[in-house]
Amino acid sequence: MSYVPSPTALVFTKTPEPVILSLEPERPNFYVHPDVYLTTDDELKGTGTVSKANVQKGTLLFIDNPYSIIPTAAPGSTTPYSRPLCSRLQCSRVVDLSSASTKSCHCVTEVVWCDADCQALGKAEHDFECSWLKTHSKSIRQEIIEPDFFSLWLIVRTLAQRELELSSPPTSTTGPNGTFPCDWNVIRGLRSNEDELQPLKVQGWRSLAERYLVGEHSMLRHSLSVDEMLTLMCQVEINHYDLWTQLIGVYPLPAEPVERAESCFAYTMYLRTPFLNHSCDPSLMHQPDGNGRMVFHATRFIPAGEEFSIAYFDLAEPKYADVKERRAYLEDEFCFTCICPRCLQESGEN
Ligand SMILES: [Zn+2]
Ligand SMILES: [Zn+2]
Ligand SMILES: [Zn+2]
Repeated sequence: MSYVPSPTALVFTKTPEPVILSLEPERPNFYVHPDVYLTTDDELKGTGTVSKANVQKGTLLFIDNPYSIIPTAAPGSTTPYSRPLCSRLQCSRVVDLSSASTKSCHCVTEVVWCDADCQALGKAEHDFECSWLKTHSKSIRQEIIEPDFFSLWLIVRTLAQRELELSSPPTSTTGPNGTFPCDWNVIRGLRSNEDELQPLKVQGWRSLAERYLVGEHSMLRHSLSVDEMLTLMCQVEINHYDLWTQLIGVYPLPAEPVERAESCFAYTMYLRTPFLNHSCDPSLMHQPDGNGRMVFHATRFIPAGEEFSIAYFDLAEPKYADVKERRAYLEDEFCFTCICPRCLQESGEN
């Protein structure tokens, strides 16, 4: 791939104010800096990524396109950050609901397309989910459950891509530099932490899988068993991204912590970003662009051989100044105790 990142694509903010990256239609769906490669499995953290050469602050290192994405802010909602997204995966842009060209489906209000072209191109994707949405969305939304309706919908959209992939396998399953796989097998290989979940939680999820996701009554066409579905639910729960408009991982942290003033606008599954591990002193900052693609830049100078790291949450939030709060959050959400240099130092462990 001959893509050369343009310096104008860089975004720097001292504070994590919402900044929407401008659309670059010529941008590829997926980009990895040529010096970046995957490391072999680390016993503690799994696969990671490093660079062969020194990386200057501001360098564009990755762009990852979603394997599946769902909007979590409903069209017509009055919050300022409501961002209805086009239901065609390759588009995923924010839809202008006042435009005459907007198309929608009668299944749920969240399913909209920019125009008739996107609706036609996204037909196979939506055909997979439409009956499921019509049949189950109302009752799922009425239940107080975890995972909630949006998380289950993300699983359905992930399954839709799997089915499309099975019916027309991709010609290449690796990225442009040959090291980053990019098909369903990546999701199948993600850690699920199933054994670390509380038995009650697993029981609840199994019941959801049986009621809404597996079997003819689910209205979904796939070959997964209840056990396989349960594993997928755990994998998606642990590895999905909440999309916020602001830049995450700004370094150094703003002098004053900033309270997050918005809600997340989408849930997404990416195939390559799971290879980026967490640190509370990350080397990369990331932000979604206008098409649901996640864009990663070096937030500081990174010496050759140092593993790239990202923040799994917004470190600028006041409560995460406290090492105990950060560790508790990571243990709850991601089932690990953070031993990044910053946590070790702040907890007096080194
Ligand atoms: Zn569109
Ligand atoms: Zn529909
Ligand atoms: Zn940490």
